[in-house]
Amino acid sequence: MTQDELFKILVAHCKEYGFIFPSSEIYDGLGAVYDYGQLGVELKNNIKRYWWEAMTRLNENIVGIDAAIFMHPSTWVASGHVAAFNDPLIDNRDSKKRYRADVLIEDYLARIEEKIKKEVEKGRKRFGDAFDEEKFRETNPNVLREKAHYDEVHGRYLKAEQANDFAEYKQIILDCDIVCPISGTKNWTDVRQFNLMFSTQFGSTGEGANTVYLRPETAQGIFVDYINVQKTGRMKIPFGIAQIGKAFRNEVVARQFIFRMREFEQMEMEFFCKPGTEMEWFNKWKEARMKWHIALGMGAENYRFHDHEKLAHYANAATDIEFNFPFGFKELEGIHSRTDFDLGNHQQLSGKKLTYFDPETGESYVPYCVETSIGVDRMFLTVLSHAYRSETLENGETRVVLGIPAPLAPVKAAVLPLVKKDGLPELAQKVMDLLKYDFNCQYEEKDSIGKRYRRQDAIGTPFCITVDHKSLEDGCVTVRDRDTMSQERVAVDALHDMIDRKVSLGNLLRQL
Ligand code: ATP
Repeated sequence: MTQDELFKILVAHCKEYGFIFPSSEIYDGLGAVYDYGQLGVELKNNIKRYWWEAMTRLNENIVGIDAAIFMHPSTWVASGHVAAFNDPLIDNRDSKKRYRADVLIEDYLARIEEKIKKEVEKGRKRFGDAFDEEKFRETNPNVLREKAHYDEVHGRYLKAEQANDFAEYKQIILDCDIVCPISGTKNWTDVRQFNLMFSTQFGSTGEGANTVYLRPETAQGIFVDYINVQKTGRMKIPFGIAQIGKAFRNEVVARQFIFRMREFEQMEMEFFCKPGTEMEWFNKWKEARMKWHIALGMGAENYRFHDHEKLAHYANAATDIEFNFPFGFKELEGIHSRTDFDLGNHQQLSGKKLTYFDPETGESYVPYCVETSIGVDRMFLTVLSHAYRSETLENGETRVVLGIPAPLAPVKAAVLPLVKKDGLPELAQKVMDLLKYDFNCQYEEKDSIGKRYRRQDAIGTPFCITVDHKSLEDGCVTVRDRDTMSQERVAVDALHDMIDRKVSLGNLLRQL
């Protein structure tokens, strides 16, 4: 099965089991907007809790806030979003499809890299053990030709990106013979700027309506509240402010399911520090964030850092944590050293002092800031795409399992009376009552036990607890493990601790 097919199956699975639905589906949906269903919301809340507690509980100098989505319009002037939150757009006149010019070029570059990789693999096969990859790359004429072409296009692209030179974007697209994947033609329009912020009217027109924006990132809520939190929380530099909330971007090309949405959720933390110490904090946060991901056990090899070649004008360092999605390594989280750009601009535009007085040195300064920013939805996709697997069992049957890390699993245990009579449902209900205050549990008595196991596997429930006739005599139940499918008899009294050991968020946090 190709990764593409696997991804389609995953999207269908998400809908079938109540994780994610297209928004307003009965009206045929709304582009790149999705709803989280009854299981999706549980998984999403668990992801958010893992992040929130890692930030605000494990760090005594980080506190959380929940700022409003609507903000004063000047916020977005100060942040630079009004002037520069743009994507370069290009249309194909034949298919009438719209693309991001930068993405078209980046995809083209990725295809060249792919060609080089294939050439190298061919060489490896041909030369076997004697294969010297470095030498091959330096001498093979096909590789050299592709590499020279890559360097030339890449160089032009970086220059055009730095200069915001849209005419050059178009020229690269034409020179490289990049065609529209739908029409197959090069009948392109010019490249234009497109602002990604959604705007709406605030107040009735009678009282003079103002244009306000739906926030395109949560970070600015933190910056404008910086001085309130610092003063009321008596926070001393260095300290951080964390926030989880909705953000909105009118993405030009919204695709790949919940990877790129128009309404999404972010988990952002701004860490304020003394100017000159920001690189130290940048490196500390790079390490801490990677550790947070790896502790989930989804394979260290599936993550990598991608340092930015082109830095935004306000940043002095930036990296992405990329994850190996079914469609390749892509950005999951950004870590940026943003200097005093945001607080400095807000101070200037608002006329309010946003400096910090350092009681130890007697200095006053506008703090520098290191940001960690991750999309909840992208994190959700990371977990699900890694978790999904289809296995062939010894008896030839297949089972679909979501191997979701247990502390994030939407349902922790399913309680299943073997039959719907003989007092088994009553005992099963007692087991539910024992567990439900600490764990999200499901009670199911319909269908054969095998079918019920399959359903729980398909939603990633770590434990299935079966109550049978023997349970009435010995006070024990059969506990089946989702991943190994092994079964063991466990005393009802011991269930709580057994489940807790595996699903406890506290144990996961202890690894950080
Ligand atoms: P991209 O290059 O993929 O558009 P970005 O660099 O614009 O992302 P940031 O502005 O750094 O992204 O946002 C921080 C994080 O928010 C991203 O790493 C991602 O996880 C998430 N995010 C950004 N845009 C979207 C979106 N449209 N849908 C879902 N998540 C998003």
